[in-house]
Amino acid sequence: MKIGCHISVGKGLEQAVLRAIELGAESLQVFTKNPRGLRPKKVDHKDAAKGVALLKEHGLVLVCHTPYITNLSTPKEDLQEVTIRSILEDLHIAEAYGAVGAVVHCGKHVGEGEEYGTKRMVETLDLILEQYNGPVKLLLENTAGQGSELGLTIPSLMEIRGATKYPEKIGFCFDTCHSFAAGQWNLESFDQLVEEMERTGYLKHLVAIHFNDSKAPFASQKDRHEKIGKGEIGSEALAKFLIHEKFQHLPVVLETPVDDEQEYAEEMVYLHQLRNAGLVVEQ
Ligand SMILES: [Zn+2]
Ligand SMILES: [Zn+2]
Repeated sequence: MKIGCHISVGKGLEQAVLRAIELGAESLQVFTKNPRGLRPKKVDHKDAAKGVALLKEHGLVLVCHTPYITNLSTPKEDLQEVTIRSILEDLHIAEAYGAVGAVVHCGKHVGEGEEYGTKRMVETLDLILEQYNGPVKLLLENTAGQGSELGLTIPSLMEIRGATKYPEKIGFCFDTCHSFAAGQWNLESFDQLVEEMERTGYLKHLVAIHFNDSKAPFASQKDRHEKIGKGEIGSEALAKFLIHEKFQHLPVVLETPVDDEQEYAEEMVYLHQLRNAGLVVEQ
């Protein structure tokens, strides 16, 4: 298991990786570009190459995250076009950064209905993926179900993947906070969640975990991240992910609220403690 956190890439990839190492991270996530915009970004390939070399040297796993504001299900033609161009660029940036995947949020049907939203999302994914043949997987992230968000459940995510022409180019990123807020799991139903991930085939395509506690209650459909052990999910339930044998090969990335990235160092130590405590009990 590679325990890590989200890091700012404002000063380039090399600096982000150095920062992650300094904080004691074994994995990290960076945005491909400004998360609140879709403006094209020029990649500094020299910096990217240095960053990739550092990742390899220190055995870190990198996950990229695409901007939040894209909507794969947008009914508007011009917005769909911008979204396709932007995410295609994100995949190329993620490739230059040596990332295992680029996380994208599921679509929002914006009042057009779930059926339309899902169909439109599949169509947009096809238009993106027919133009990309590189090694980076596009990772669909489960949502909390805020507003008209799609992709709350494991079966619905598998259905979207299976409906595209390029399922082999699609993987998943599981967010613990979103899934809890969507009413999909808690301490009592953790085993059922894992069973569902296995039964549906989702687990085989799971590439990363976003590890967050939740400020909002179970099934509230509100996306509010909290520090591990300080929220509604609690450390006992979250620790189950850290010790379960099915998740040991994955990067586990914190996206918890911090004023300063330095706070992640302490939180990652806490995660290692939770994990080690669990492993001792199991022996
Ligand atoms: Zn997330
Ligand atoms: Zn979130």
